[in-house]
Amino acid sequence: MLRSVRVDYHLHLAPDGETLRDEHLSIEQLRRYVRTASDHGIGEIGLTEHVHRFRQAAALSAHPFWQESAESDLDEYHGLLAEARDDERLPLLVSLELDYLPGRESETATLVTPYEWDYLLGAVHWLGDLAVDHPDWSVWAEASVDAVWETYVETLVAAAASGLFDVMAHPDLAKVFGDRPTAHLLPGLYERATEAFATAGVVAELSTAGLRKGAEEIYPAPAFLAALERAGVPISLASDAHTDEHIGWEFDRALRLAYDAGYRTVTQFRRRDQRQVSFV
Ligand SMILES: [Zn+2]
Ligand SMILES: [Zn+2]
Repeated sequence: MLRSVRVDYHLHLAPDGETLRDEHLSIEQLRRYVRTASDHGIGEIGLTEHVHRFRQAAALSAHPFWQESAESDLDEYHGLLAEARDDERLPLLVSLELDYLPGRESETATLVTPYEWDYLLGAVHWLGDLAVDHPDWSVWAEASVDAVWETYVETLVAAAASGLFDVMAHPDLAKVFGDRPTAHLLPGLYERATEAFATAGVVAELSTAGLRKGAEEIYPAPAFLAALERAGVPISLASDAHTDEHIGWEFDRALRLAYDAGYRTVTQFRRRDQRQVSFV
């Protein structure tokens, strides 16, 4: 029987751009994350390291970004987390943040299938060789804001339908730097994504990271969140922290927004099974 606890289901062990070093991939780091979470009233955390940080993922993309960042060992990461969860009984779940790479679905499945996961995050950061959230590989200089959003949502719909993911991370990440499409396009874009999530049975991540970025707004936006609630799409709660200082960041605000959108529960995972727990 799972206890009803507050969770943070999107955490990284090192800042972006930094290599995962031994000190990041250590039991001490995991204990520190659990302790900090507990200090913020969070009883369970999920570690969701970027897949591109692992050598085993280098074959997923020939892009220089992937080739340069694929340094750590996925076996070591999974083994460390599973041991902390099962032997040390730390309240943490074993997960990854996967990129949706169109055309590489079967390679992505082959990469993750040998391991047991509590859940898997799916994210759309890349549109082809350019990223919506990476200044060095920016898609924004190459196309109009409306066109980028159109492609972003199209890719998000395909990601949800791929069956690879349990949770769609930061579902309107395209706003990360504050770029928003012409206002009358937004309801249609939200509806398309919502319908795809509902059909696929995926969970939508409620992430406070957007509040720390140029977007200055939670992911997903309140109108998007309301559409997801109407369609019966469950949510998970996440900070997308890359150091322990952001674990559980602004969660009271996130849960108020969820409540305002009509939600009364968030998702808890175990071994890719999900259940809803009340937060009210
Ligand atoms: Zn992400
Ligand atoms: Zn992340």
